[in-house]
Amino acid sequence: MFKAILLEESDGKVTAEIQNLDEARLPDLEDAVTVAVEYSTLNYKDGMILNGVGRLVRTYPHVPGVDFAGVVEASDHPDYKPGDRVVSTGWRVGEMTWGGYAQKARVKGDWLVSLPEGLTAKRAMALGTAGITAMFAVMALEEHGITPARSTECGEVLVTGAAGGVGSVAVTLLASLGYKVAASTGRQEAHDYLRGLGATSIVERAELAEVSKRPLARERWAGCIDSVGGTTLAHVLAETAHNGAVAAVGLAGGSTLETTVLPFLLRGVNLLGIDSVMCPQARRRAAWARLVKDLPMDKLDAMTETAALGDLMTLGQEILKGQVRGRLVIDVNA
Ligand code: NDP
Repeated sequence: MFKAILLEESDGKVTAEIQNLDEARLPDLEDAVTVAVEYSTLNYKDGMILNGVGRLVRTYPHVPGVDFAGVVEASDHPDYKPGDRVVSTGWRVGEMTWGGYAQKARVKGDWLVSLPEGLTAKRAMALGTAGITAMFAVMALEEHGITPARSTECGEVLVTGAAGGVGSVAVTLLASLGYKVAASTGRQEAHDYLRGLGATSIVERAELAEVSKRPLARERWAGCIDSVGGTTLAHVLAETAHNGAVAAVGLAGGSTLETTVLPFLLRGVNLLGIDSVMCPQARRRAAWARLVKDLPMDKLDAMTETAALGDLMTLGQEILKGQVRGRLVIDVNA
């Protein structure tokens, strides 16, 4: 038996309860690997799933948790054997199949990566989907010529939703790589926290959420990592410098995008979509290796708090309201 959060749905309403489940209930998958989970994490998408928002889960009962790290117990996959330490992010784990809010998980071996050398399971989950997404976004900006030098010459690189999970890792990564970073937040109390992560300036969330009156405005940003979407993304596109790039990561502020083609036609702005869910494994491994190399671990520890499975229903509601700061690791055995 193992402890897990089990979601049930009735009349469109999702309820959650911690239950003891039999291992026989774990999914039956090809090349399966069964993992004794040590840590999971809380991402925005977990908040949606815990609250039945967005119909991301189609089959109930369901065990949520899009990320987990732990030790292999049994394996039908040639790359993994009992005792190996592994990490799972993406591939719709915790969404289309059971996930990591449990002491045991079973996934296809092809969805796993080995715990990156230099990381503990806890730090891997302090990163989790949010961390690897921030790294993908930085890599995408680099691939489109957004260098630290450009952030001095053409305007800072902006991070929106900066006090959240993706935002906190993105600010820290960019700052440690030598970029000048503007952090946008709606939380007055997060200003010192963001400066501590390396932000060179702070921008009020409300300022960027205003609908742009003109399709092109003063060039302010060499690039941007945007967790917010909606009017914020439209606003930022109008302020992005010539040949700048905007990595669109999220939709915490809305999924509708009303803009014009002018930033693309007259300023050569690149809008880069970031998808951490179905990203190929080779790029995923490269991103993990970059995180180990480029992210100062003391800063990661400073942005991380730990909670237990029993705290998740409250925390799942808080993350949807933008009230969770930085990263939250879930100790599934606490
Ligand atoms: P968090 O809740 O940790 O961070 C989101 C931040 O956005 C909040 O902390 C807040 O920052 C800001 N925010 C929240 N609500 C609003 C609002 N209504 N208007 C403007 N800003 C708001 O979530 P994550 O960092 O885990 O995820 C961020 C987004 O990225 C989500 O939409 C998520 O679904 C998406 N995502 C996408 C991935 C991909 O593969 N593309 C992977 C991971 C996440 P502040 O308080 O500083 O203003």
